[in-house]
Amino acid sequence: MFLFLHALLNMPLLENFKSCVFCGSMFVLTPGFCRYCSLEIEKRTYAPKVIIVKGMIVRPLFLWSELHNLWVKHLAYSLKGGGCMPEQNFLAHLFLSIKNFKLKNADFYCAPGRHGDHAHEWAAAITSAVGKDFRRPFIKKSIKQKTKTKAEREMINIEISERPIKTKNANKAIFLDDIVATGSTAHNSLSLLEGYVFNEVWCIAYKEHCSD
Ligand SMILES: [Zn+2]
Repeated sequence: MFLFLHALLNMPLLENFKSCVFCGSMFVLTPGFCRYCSLEIEKRTYAPKVIIVKGMIVRPLFLWSELHNLWVKHLAYSLKGGGCMPEQNFLAHLFLSIKNFKLKNADFYCAPGRHGDHAHEWAAAITSAVGKDFRRPFIKKSIKQKTKTKAEREMINIEISERPIKTKNANKAIFLDDIVATGSTAHNSLSLLEGYVFNEVWCIAYKEHCSD
């Protein structure tokens, strides 16, 4: 009996079997979350409302409040580290379905980070859903965690690896990041771009009351 179960659990078929990243349920539909969580997620969206942070229009799919909404925190941590493309695709389609965006003159930029991380997956999910490419010219100069006070975070140092070439007729730069808190990363990254009239930030969650 034990050997049978052992053999069953090692079958290649079961290795591909995914559970819901949110609740662990095995009843996962194609998009990645289980049916219950998909419905819960749809109910809790903040979009199409926007928030103005450091003069930028920030469009969060959810509002992350440490006081009222630990649910979004759980979602953010579930997506951390990457490997969640089906879930990111689900969120990207949800984000895009809430408002009719005019994207003909928009260029997309991914937040600094490593290839395959959560911000990168969010950027890949959004741009593949709208049939566009995205650029990743930003490099974040890390500040030691120990010395990271709010004032230091405000000064987050972003560099650009190469001057990105603006698409002809593009007038809007859309910065894609999974979580926006102080807005410094987005603000400092977008300030390095030239030639755009409008800037927007699209994120999975905007983190309210971000403390030190
Ligand atoms: Zn679930």
